[in-house]
Amino acid sequence: MRERRSDIGAERKSPYREERKFPEPTVCSRCGLIYSGGAWHLATKAGEPPKGANRELCPACRRELDRAPGGLVYLSGSYLLEKEEEIMNIVRNQEEQARAKRPLQRIMWVERKDEGLEIATTNQHLARRIGRAVNSAHAGSLVIKQKAGENFVRVYWERER
Ligand SMILES: [Zn+2]
Repeated sequence: MRERRSDIGAERKSPYREERKFPEPTVCSRCGLIYSGGAWHLATKAGEPPKGANRELCPACRRELDRAPGGLVYLSGSYLLEKEEEIMNIVRNQEEQARAKRPLQRIMWVERKDEGLEIATTNQHLARRIGRAVNSAHAGSLVIKQKAGENFVRVYWERER
């Protein structure tokens, strides 16, 4: 049980760590993802979980329940107001594509903040990906801020008309 103990220690540092090991197979009791082969998969790809599989929350569901994002994307500027629908389509497409391969990468919320939109993601890579995709389709200014050693990123995209 030594392994278990070190898991608990690491978990205290970051309960959302995607690399965290679980007993196999584990089923997420909230979204139904299956942990096997050292990673979380969509249930359809991994097949039916055996009866008596371990049940826990996957790292993405934990973040969703705790409202603790791994990334925040801020979209702003007068151009956004004109093109909001188009830009949000890009955002949703990026999530869909990311999530098909890595089901822990999800959008947690989209909220109106002042003159812009705040998009929270379960994962820093998805936040970066969204920022880059919006900026490559609608060139504006993109700033990515992340403190060294921190598993959290802020992505700012802005464009005036
Ligand atoms: Zn889950």
